[in-house]
Amino acid sequence: MRLFGVSLGEGNAKVGQIYTFSLPSHTTCPGASRWCLEHCYAHRYERLRSVCRQAYQRNLVLAQQPEEFVRVMTGVLPRILPSMRIHVSGDFHSRVYVNAWERIATAFPQTRFWTYTRSWVVPDLLGSLERLRALANVQVFASTDPTMSLPPSGWRGAFVQTDPRASGMQCRQQHGHVASCLDCGYCFRQDAGSVVFLIHEDPPVSPGIEEHGVEEERPRERLKERRTRHEPAEYEVPVFKLQLVQESTVKTGPITTPGDVAAMLTDVASADREQMVAVFLSTKHWPVGRQTVSIGTLNASLAHPREVFKGALLSNAHGLILAHNHPSGSVSPSQDDDRITAAIADAGRVLNVSLLDHVILSPDGRFYSYREEKPECLKTERGRPEQSPTGCASATKARTIRNANPKETQS
Ligand SMILES: [Zn+2]
Repeated sequence: MRLFGVSLGEGNAKVGQIYTFSLPSHTTCPGASRWCLEHCYAHRYERLRSVCRQAYQRNLVLAQQPEEFVRVMTGVLPRILPSMRIHVSGDFHSRVYVNAWERIATAFPQTRFWTYTRSWVVPDLLGSLERLRALANVQVFASTDPTMSLPPSGWRGAFVQTDPRASGMQCRQQHGHVASCLDCGYCFRQDAGSVVFLIHEDPPVSPGIEEHGVEEERPRERLKERRTRHEPAEYEVPVFKLQLVQESTVKTGPITTPGDVAAMLTDVASADREQMVAVFLSTKHWPVGRQTVSIGTLNASLAHPREVFKGALLSNAHGLILAHNHPSGSVSPSQDDDRITAAIADAGRVLNVSLLDHVILSPDGRFYSYREEKPECLKTERGRPEQSPTGCASATKARTIRNANPKETQS
């Protein structure tokens, strides 16, 4: 369950319907022993389940702002909450964090909190933990293992079964005497007595995931199946929704001549760097959109069909016109211009979006139209005559340069 940036577990088969709060393991465990790190099933889960890892990471970000943490927790926890386990994963890692829990527990006197911690071995944290432990509604267990010393005197201990010093009640849930912690309650309803746990040798397939307080994202059968087939752990694949975002609008009429294109793109013509723009057209050659494909010196990689057709496909264009400027003022097409034109024309045939023209613009208003001057470059491979080294057929006829300004054209 995720509320206001905090991810709370809502219990599972093991603990019952109990809220849990967890943090990333290892990094928040200053009291972890080597034994503990080797046997840490929380860590194994986090590695397997990115959803856990991310939820715990979010919790840690919140926990590092103690005031906000207390405010959020006291805001989201139900007023009538019978019990809550602090940390299925992670541990008390700073005094301010322990103090935050002291404040939260104080705000919920009716709720029985309980936690198992190894942070008691950190001298700097012991005092804060003692204060937390002193609250009537909080049970703090000192976890230990064969490589650690015995819990401080007066503390309830949490032992592992293989520890020769272990004493206390065997976990009744692990031994199948009760269905869940909620049915037992020895750890949080009693205020004395140690507990002896079995070691989680291997992470159980599914209940442990729930145990970590994060909803399962897949049916457990799928996970089980994957484990038996030894497939790699799953990873997250983003789910996309594609949409066009309108940035601004430009005024234009229907586009029937290269002059119309030049008139629509005066801003591109006067730009101080090369820009390639695609104008998308409807079946009736009305412009339905315009997109800047690349900015900077044009080469075939910058004006790749991938970039050009992204917008064309999203805007359901029937055809498109390419245009780019030559800040130098010359409108003669380069060999790269020829190659780009031919490549886009070929891709357009496959995608059923025709390249109708490619117009080169100059800052002084002149322009060059492939449709008028080198139509063979717009033809797709099949229709294109003998190829020149530039990629489209050589054009020998003299180029006629025209002007976008109608007044000047008339004069
Ligand atoms: Zn060019």
